Amino acid sequence: MHARPLLTALLATLLILGPVCAQAQSSVPALVLGHMNPDTDSIISAIAVAHLNNKRGIACQPAAQGPPSPETAFVLKRFGLTAPEVVHDVAGRKLYLVDFSDLAQAPKGIGEAEILGIVDHHKLGDVTTPNPLEIWTWPVGCAGTVIKSMYDFYGVEIPKNIAGGLMCAILSDTVMFKSPTTTEQDKKAVEALTKIADVADYKAVGIAMFTAKSAVEGVSAKDLVSRDFKNFIMNGKKIGIGQIEVFDLAMLDKVKNNLYQEITRLKAEGRHSVFLLLTDITKGGSELLFVSDDPSVVEKAFGKKPDGKSVWLDGVMSRKKQVVPNLEKAFK
Ligand code: MG
Ligand code: MG
Ligand code: MG
Repeated sequence: MHARPLLTALLATLLILGPVCAQAQSSVPALVLGHMNPDTDSIISAIAVAHLNNKRGIACQPAAQGPPSPETAFVLKRFGLTAPEVVHDVAGRKLYLVDFSDLAQAPKGIGEAEILGIVDHHKLGDVTTPNPLEIWTWPVGCAGTVIKSMYDFYGVEIPKNIAGGLMCAILSDTVMFKSPTTTEQDKKAVEALTKIADVADYKAVGIAMFTAKSAVEGVSAKDLVSRDFKNFIMNGKKIGIGQIEVFDLAMLDKVKNNLYQEITRLKAEGRHSVFLLLTDITKGGSELLFVSDDPSVVEKAFGKKPDGKSVWLDGVMSRKKQVVPNLEKAFK
């Protein structure tokens, strides 16, 4: 007979406690995080998506799986942006992934984290989620291009400094529109972002950025390789693929032997193969250095017989579009 008041009291308690619990949960911001060995896109996209999500009412904080590279440091300084906090373990956190969706490029604890969203421009990786999530992944040259459209979609104004950062991320990922990954959307995004950032000449900023990236003098082979190195699982085998982009390949002549030693060391860590693209952005091609348990995969993948430890690949500038798919087929 007292069932009804009791039920009412219970419901009232739930109604009051419900929002309190939700609030307590959302007080820990979700991390927005790019891939391992973060590049400019991974870091700027984390900053931008965190900003956009906060404007949308989703508490977020940018993070990165490492400190900015000299190229990214140049961009952050040029536009007065702050490097995101470095995070190595994401267990128990809510996450937005930017610029990747491969577990092999994720931090420790990814299995115990909750992925709320993905913003990317690579092949879809192997992360899975128990809950529905927000996915923005387009076949364009840079995650920054997708994010420019997200700002437009949500009607949020892009701050000047973030616009400058996104502009540079797109110029970096597309190698100033020279990479075959470049799309019309990337060019349009840069045009619009250049205006928002109040940049007079995006090419001048891009050249200064690639000059910062090309400064390899005095940098150890280990640091050079780790700046842009990604792990992949191909047919069950652990593969590492690095890339170094310079204005002129001759800049790497002195360190090439050390680079080869470094990829040999990385292979010995338990990888089947390690590939290193030495990209000449002026010539528009790459020398591929490699160490592998099965060197025949190189000819299988690229149709060109390697000259011992390396092979010149004319026109190859993109790991994502011209290297990873070829190797995946060769490993099948
Ligand atoms: Mg990237
Ligand atoms: Mg990218
Ligand atoms: Mg790249």
